[in-house]
Amino acid sequence: MLNNSSFYKHTFIGCGASYEETDFVIFGAPFDSTASFRPGARFASQTMRAESYGIETYSPYQDKDLEDLVVCDAGDLELTIGDVEMALSQIESFAAQLLSDRKRPAMIGGEHLVTLGAVRSICKQYPDLHIVHFDAHADLRDDYLGAKLSHATVMRRVWDLLGDGHIFQFGVRSGDRCEFEWGNGHVHTQKFDFGGLESVISNFGTAPVYFSLDLDVLDPSVLPGTGTPEAGGVSFIEIMGAIKLLSRLNIVGFDMVELSPPYDSSGISTATACKLLRECLLYFS
Ligand code: MN
Ligand code: MN
Repeated sequence: MLNNSSFYKHTFIGCGASYEETDFVIFGAPFDSTASFRPGARFASQTMRAESYGIETYSPYQDKDLEDLVVCDAGDLELTIGDVEMALSQIESFAAQLLSDRKRPAMIGGEHLVTLGAVRSICKQYPDLHIVHFDAHADLRDDYLGAKLSHATVMRRVWDLLGDGHIFQFGVRSGDRCEFEWGNGHVHTQKFDFGGLESVISNFGTAPVYFSLDLDVLDPSVLPGTGTPEAGGVSFIEIMGAIKLLSRLNIVGFDMVELSPPYDSSGISTATACKLLRECLLYFS
C-alpha cells in the first residue's frame, strides 16, 4: 500500500491546500502563441513552482506567512496551442467555474492575452469591473499585424468589454503614437511610474478590481526574463509599494504574465516573480 505522505506534490510553495477550503486558486495558463517578439512565457508557471522553493513562505514586509493562508495551486490548464479562441474560452470557462465556487483566480501566464480569457468571465459576474494594469506597454492597439487577438491588443479587447473609465494603467513607456492618442479619454494611463496611483484608487470605493501585472513593467535589470524587455522600468521596491496600496481594494482576482524563464538563465527573474506572487497572495487575502 502506498504511503501518500511520503510523496511530494508539486505546487507553488506553501500553496498545497485543497480546492474545497481555498479562497485564491493559483492556476497556470501556459500560452504564448501570439508573442510578437520572443515566445517562452508558456514555461513560466512550471518554472515558478519549481523555483518557489528558493524563497521563504514568510514575508518580512508584511509579517505574514503563506503557511497561515489556505491557498490551492490547481496546476496548469491544458490549453489548445495554435487556436487562440479555443485557448481563451478554456481560460474563460475555468475562471467561471472558480467564480461560481466562490473562489478568486490567481492566474500565472503565459503571455498577456490570457488576461482576456479571465476578464471575459469575471466581467459577467462583476459588470462594474475595474482593471488595474501595470505594464511597460500600453497594449491598446486595435490590431497587431491584422490580428485582433494579440498580447499587444489585450487591453483594447478588455476595453471592448468594459468601456471608458474602467482601465487604469501604470508604468507604461512603450506603444505607438496612435495607442497613446486613442487612450486619452478612454483609459487612464500613467506613463513611466506609479504616480497618482493612490489618488486614482481612492475613488474606487468597494468596486470590484482585477489586477493584471505584466512583469515587464519592472526594469529589465530587475527582470530580464521577459519576451519584450523595455528599458526605464520601475524598481522592485516601487512595485512593492504599489501592490501594498492595491491591498485596500476589493480585489476579485489577479494575474501575473509575461515571465519568460528561457531568457534569464540566472533564474533571478523567476525568483522575483515568485516573491511578487507570495506578496500579492498575502496582501490580497
Ligand atoms: Mn502587456
Ligand atoms: Mn508588456
